[in-house]
Order: sequence, then C-alpha cells, then structure tokens
Amino acid sequence: MNASTRIGIGYDIHRLIEGRKLILGGVEIPFEKGLLGHSDSDVLTHAICDALLGAVALGDIGSHFPDTDPRWTGASSLEFLARVVELVSERGYRVANIDAIVVAEQPKLMPFVQSIREKLASVLQLDVDQVSIKAKTNEGLESVGKGEAIAAQAVVLLISSSG
Ligand code: MG
Repeated sequence: MNASTRIGIGYDIHRLIEGRKLILGGVEIPFEKGLLGHSDSDVLTHAICDALLGAVALGDIGSHFPDTDPRWTGASSLEFLARVVELVSERGYRVANIDAIVVAEQPKLMPFVQSIREKLASVLQLDVDQVSIKAKTNEGLESVGKGEAIAAQAVVLLISSSG
C-alpha cells in the first residue's frame, strides 16, 4: 500500500423507531425517535467508518464490529471510529478530509451540524475544517422521506503519512 493518496466511500441507513435515542456523529439530537440497531446506531459515524475502511481496503464496519458480538451492544459508534482511524494510521495513512451527507426528513439537523463536526474532528484528531457535514431531506420521497429511516453517505481522502 504505497499510493500517496487513497479515497473511500461509505453509505448506511437505519430505521427510525420510538424508544431509542437519536445519535448522529456522536451528538445526541433531541427527537421523539431514534435509530434501530445493535450499537447506538449512529448512521453518520457508520458511513464515515465505512469510507475510512474502504479507503484502505479493509472491509466494512460489519466485519470489524459484528452485530453478533455482545461487546458492541449499545456501544458508542465513536469507539468504532477511533479504532478505524488507528487501522488507517497503521496502514500508513492520515485523513486529509471527510465530506458527509445525512439525509433525514426530521428533525432539522442544521442547528447540530457544527457540534457534530467538532465531535467527529476531536475523535479523528482533525481540524474542524477537515470535516464537512451536510444535512438534507429526501423531499418526502421513499422511506427516508416518509420519516421511517435516516441515511448517510461519506467520502474520505487519505494521504500517505510518509509522503
Ligand atoms: Mg449502521
């Protein structure tokens, strides 16, 4: 693995249900529903983890943190992110920048975007201007637009630590 740069893409979607906290990018968002899943179901952090793993061709989040492992029940996805960044670093790369999109019909996420960027940047040991988060709706279309799920997409660029 000796390219000077590598790129990765990540996507995730989780079902919205009652009785769960809504965690996005490690930040708890006040809302009547949360995301269903084994960990805290932080769909944004999962997409970023998958983009980072993809950039170094190390599989995906499910292969590293399987939902059959009781260690990860209710786990903070920021733990996954911290471990994934270690794996990237062990492969000789550091993050140049991350760009991500959260697609949610509700709640409005704009008021939380800056806190999310700061939280993710702190875990990734990056400056906030290396982490871009954009919030979109799905214009009422399909499961995300009907408020049944939240989806996220992310791309990352890695730079060789030696170059
Ligand atoms: Mg997920």
